[in-house]
Amino acid sequence: MKEELKELISGLRANLSYLRDLGVRDLWIEKQEQTVPEIKSSEEAKVFKPSISLSSQEKQAERNERLANIIEKLRPSKLNIGNLDSSEKKPVLLFDTITPAENQDNLEKIRADIGDCHRCPLYKHRTQIVHSKGNPNAKLMFIGEAPGADEDIRGEPFVGRAGQLLTKIIEAIELKREEVFIGNINRCRPPGNRQPTPEEAKVCREFIIREIFVIRPVCIVTLGSTACQYLLNTKVSITKIRGQFQDFQGIKVMPTFHPAYLLRDPSKKRDVWEDMKKVRDYLKSFQ
Ligand code: SF4
Repeated sequence: MKEELKELISGLRANLSYLRDLGVRDLWIEKQEQTVPEIKSSEEAKVFKPSISLSSQEKQAERNERLANIIEKLRPSKLNIGNLDSSEKKPVLLFDTITPAENQDNLEKIRADIGDCHRCPLYKHRTQIVHSKGNPNAKLMFIGEAPGADEDIRGEPFVGRAGQLLTKIIEAIELKREEVFIGNINRCRPPGNRQPTPEEAKVCREFIIREIFVIRPVCIVTLGSTACQYLLNTKVSITKIRGQFQDFQGIKVMPTFHPAYLLRDPSKKRDVWEDMKKVRDYLKSFQ
């Protein structure tokens, strides 16, 4: 049941992403009164509560039917899209991090909005803001937590020893660094290379999320525990979800270790290689 629910949610997210691509920013669905049928006999009970002896084909058919029902409800013709004409109808934002005003977002606009940012206390310690860098049409995106000393000086994400290792990881899956897009949750270096606080991350992550929606990569690799937790808004430890695809707004997310951690513990390179093979295979399935 849990797996089934995950599948339904995943399908729903994919369709919401599709609607967003169509330009839908908010929507509401007419609420339908539903009555719970009284179950009178064991035969009816089978209908309303299917037996666990269903074959896998029947289960799949049932899942498909339920997913089709959800998709049907989300078809544009079934939706009220646009301005509200009744105070009783409350819009449901598809993406709580994106406002309708940002519908025509692009990388230049995001950069301009960041400006000489003082939105969180990290601005006090930076040499410069370290913006994301890479191919605006990238299929693969890497996200770390925040710049370190080298990045702060050079103004580029993932340079220095950890950055060189990241380049090797990218090349190991037959891509070039120029083909991917690389960024951080926070763009200013935290003092002493500490982790950004949840408050600092919450303010800055909006920018990387806007970049994700502009680029629409096929897959995102989060580097290290902090990036994974702040992007996915979870407290689950990296050791529990590393190597398992997660979902962010219909985009696959692969949590893996940070290259700086691999420099400290090279024995973990094997794990990262296994994770990256999954990413490579997933990307290939889209070619
Ligand atoms: S870390 Fe982000 S939000 Fe904080 S000052 Fe730098 S750019 Fe602004």
